[in-house]
Amino acid sequence: MRRKFIVGNWKMHKGPADADALADTLKRALAGRDAKVDVGVAPPFVSLSAVVSRLKHTGILVAAQNLHSEAQGAFTGEISGEMLRQVGVAYCLVGHSERRQFFGDTDAFVEKKVAACFRSGLLPILCVGETLAEREAGKEREVVTRQLTAAIGKLQADQVPSVTIAYEPVWAIGTGKTASPLQAQEMHATIRGWLESSFPAFVARSTRLQYGGSVKGSNAAELLKMPDIDGALVGGAALNAEEFLAIVEAANAA
Ligand code: PEP
Repeated sequence: MRRKFIVGNWKMHKGPADADALADTLKRALAGRDAKVDVGVAPPFVSLSAVVSRLKHTGILVAAQNLHSEAQGAFTGEISGEMLRQVGVAYCLVGHSERRQFFGDTDAFVEKKVAACFRSGLLPILCVGETLAEREAGKEREVVTRQLTAAIGKLQADQVPSVTIAYEPVWAIGTGKTASPLQAQEMHATIRGWLESSFPAFVARSTRLQYGGSVKGSNAAELLKMPDIDGALVGGAALNAEEFLAIVEAANAA
């Protein structure tokens, strides 16, 4: 019942012209496909307009990589959910580990950003995951549960399935080191268990959980066939159309 969902996070790559070219390649490759899988891309802010117009009526979804929690105000350099909505964006990443690590996104700020998504009609893709030190200390479940509780623990039950939860172990992001399918499945089962114990049963059944961390064409199939892995958030491999399309293909076949 949960459709697979593959999202490419382009990070700080691809200005408007390059982003438009990559979006066009994806559009052509995915045209007329049997839409068994939801596909999305998250370009940088300045490329969103170009990508939204290139992908209009294609079914390929467009996400922003971040937003500010306030609707407007004296926050130099920031972008609000309302602004993203005006540009035609549907989804927004929230709490990506690079934001948590380099830009001071705390659990409390992430909660406010999730609320801002709902207020402005964006669907959040909430990123959670432990660092290597936290995993080595055996704290991965504790950390992820804390992040989930802070970010979405107080939502109304019927809001939660609109949130996609991306489990991204920080030690696997951009390192070429992927969690094994079993490691990833274990954490996804923990997240689904947390949903089960925190909300009515329909929430855990319908909320999509993505895995992220060095996913590529060659390892996507084994990850995506795990019972609690409903998709992937893809960084580096999403910059290459062929690699990204191979991941979409693996999701189609899973
Ligand atoms: C990411 O940025 O969300 C990510 C998973 O990156 P990579 O695939 O490069 O590890």
